[in-house]
Amino acid sequence: HNKLPAGSYRSTCCYCGVGCGIIVNRDRQGKISVEGDKDHPVNKGMLCSKGMNLHYTVMDTSDRLYYPEMRYNKHLPRHRVSWDQALDRTAAVFKQMIAQYGPDSVAFYASGQCLTEEYYVVNKLIKGFIGSNNIDTNSRLCMSSAVAAYKMSLGEDSVPGNYDDIEQTDCIFVAGANPAWCHPILWRRIEAAKAKNPALKIIVSDPRVTQSCAIADVHLQLMPGTDIVLHHAIGRILIETGRTDQHFLQEHTEGFAKYRDTVMQRSISSAAAICGIEEEKIYSAATMLGNAGTFMTMWTMGLNQSSVGVNKNLSLINLNLITGKIGKPGCGPFSLTGQPNAMGGREVGGLSNMLPAHRVLDNPAHRKEVENFWGGTALSDKPGLTATEMFEALNDGRLKAIWIMCTNPLVSLPDARMAEAALQKAKFVVVQEISSRPETLRYADVVLPAAAWTEKEGTMTNAERRITYLQKVNDAPGEALPDAEIICRFARKMGFHGFDFEQPADIYAEHTQLTAGTNIDITGVNYKILKERRSLQWPYPVGTTGPGTPRLFTDHKFYTSSTKAIIHTFSDDNRSVRPDPAFSLILTTGRIRDQWHTMTKTGKVSKLKQHIPAPLLEIHPEDAEQRQIRDSDIVEVSSANGVVRVKARLTTSIKKGVVFLPMHWGRILDNDLSRANNLTNRLVDKISKQPDLKYTTVQVQSY
Ligand code: SF4
Repeated sequence: HNKLPAGSYRSTCCYCGVGCGIIVNRDRQGKISVEGDKDHPVNKGMLCSKGMNLHYTVMDTSDRLYYPEMRYNKHLPRHRVSWDQALDRTAAVFKQMIAQYGPDSVAFYASGQCLTEEYYVVNKLIKGFIGSNNIDTNSRLCMSSAVAAYKMSLGEDSVPGNYDDIEQTDCIFVAGANPAWCHPILWRRIEAAKAKNPALKIIVSDPRVTQSCAIADVHLQLMPGTDIVLHHAIGRILIETGRTDQHFLQEHTEGFAKYRDTVMQRSISSAAAICGIEEEKIYSAATMLGNAGTFMTMWTMGLNQSSVGVNKNLSLINLNLITGKIGKPGCGPFSLTGQPNAMGGREVGGLSNMLPAHRVLDNPAHRKEVENFWGGTALSDKPGLTATEMFEALNDGRLKAIWIMCTNPLVSLPDARMAEAALQKAKFVVVQEISSRPETLRYADVVLPAAAWTEKEGTMTNAERRITYLQKVNDAPGEALPDAEIICRFARKMGFHGFDFEQPADIYAEHTQLTAGTNIDITGVNYKILKERRSLQWPYPVGTTGPGTPRLFTDHKFYTSSTKAIIHTFSDDNRSVRPDPAFSLILTTGRIRDQWHTMTKTGKVSKLKQHIPAPLLEIHPEDAEQRQIRDSDIVEVSSANGVVRVKARLTTSIKKGVVFLPMHWGRILDNDLSRANNLTNRLVDKISKQPDLKYTTVQVQSY
């Protein structure tokens, strides 16, 4: 069945944004094994537990979708159909919805797991030909606060530094992240750097004592939602102790005076009381940053998944700006991307408020450029629905049809029970998937089987702007097709031109042409060069030689209209729904070491279930005692939105007043009581529209 020759193929891990290089070996019988690519600059041969077991997810096809399925009526079961039948019917329904209710009556919900080529064609389809901006991806739940903050402070969504800065820095401030579990290979580089240079200081802020704290010089165990207060306090100490870079502030930034006035308004003792940490620890962290010749700030979901996620991001980036620690080796704000290709999606403009190559939706000239390039319909200036808005719009009937590709929103979206009710009400649901496991399949009118990692070729961009090429290793089972091929076939069924790509390389070539002359110009990149050079960092205009651009802003010219970085000032308030007597604890959700997202891949690997086989609610012993809860008791966790029943794990590693639940588990048979997102609410950041997944008020009692 597999026509590709046995041998070694080069790929990239399809889990997290670290972007480790993988060698996939396939023998003559088609058996696959994986090993870390020793020549890859990111991981130098290392892989974490998830990456090391990736071959099991490919070899075990027991849950794979083999054929398109369809039903004509929501009361009937789906049955197997041909690709033509499935896509003809879907195109007919989409055309009818668009004719009757307008282009904004349909939407695509995609994923940071998609390859760049897949993102590109689906974005082109809905924005350039259907005429709606109703495309969002699960990156909205992941990086959208960081995207907005980069744009506001640096002018564009551009990560300034790279992983090699780790080996060149004096200090790393890891805010609201647990890279030891969630970005393990990156963390191993940090551990190795610290082992080689014990003077390297590590600061971690997190309401939990995580594995990342094991090598921290200071752990700031703050209350959820108080990050801005902490960052402002550190900023105040840096200013008061003369650790700011006056020349950099004068020449290359705007907004410092207002920032200084604001951070001076709160005393360090007041900040310490709000954050729930000792004053001395704030001074220690600030002193480490102030004394460091170079420092990096790193963050992920603890800052991003917040009702004030953009302000949390900006408050951290401000620490780099006031000290001039950006655009130099060992320096810079560094957002750790959650998913393997969230950055690629951002490059193609694959979110509801973006256009390709960092163009801006509300800029008429940008819209015209893209419109002329694509040659389809006029681009709408109306921002499309974001992830949570799509499901709200399905729920209230504004949105009629949704196409879900490569993501499992009924586990990952906040207030998952509302999302489930919304899919029940949808007039038409298309699910494009590799696996029969996702909860969304219960509500699908059309199921389109997709090719998985190793069964298609394409590109991804990791957290440090590194583009890599993934070789196809084996054929997809049954009639499953690559996601880009599915979208292009559908577009042609809709009667749209511009989707006759012969191969993924052609899609990539078109994408690169749209970047010409922009700050992320990659016109010098093509599949041939990527195959030769393994990976490159953008920008990479025509004529570039070597590995690309490891560092941005080395001339301290930023992408703002004034070329200066903007230091934003705002209140340190949190907008989350506060605890009250009924819901007196704060729930924070997150990941565990050996599982990925909603477990549709890692859940198949028995080795990965051994670490933490079932969801546990972490609760502080004093909070447990007040509620007469003992270790391993089944507890009921309730919020204004729903309930969960899981075992309690008493631990002093979580801050008193806070409980933690992993986000991976969904339904187990017909029981949804392991699903953390039964509890979370739909409150979002006003700018990024990223949900407040790290802060839900709950009550816990023995069950
Ligand atoms: Fe894959 Fe991330 Fe692990 Fe690297 S660190 S092997 S990219 S999951």
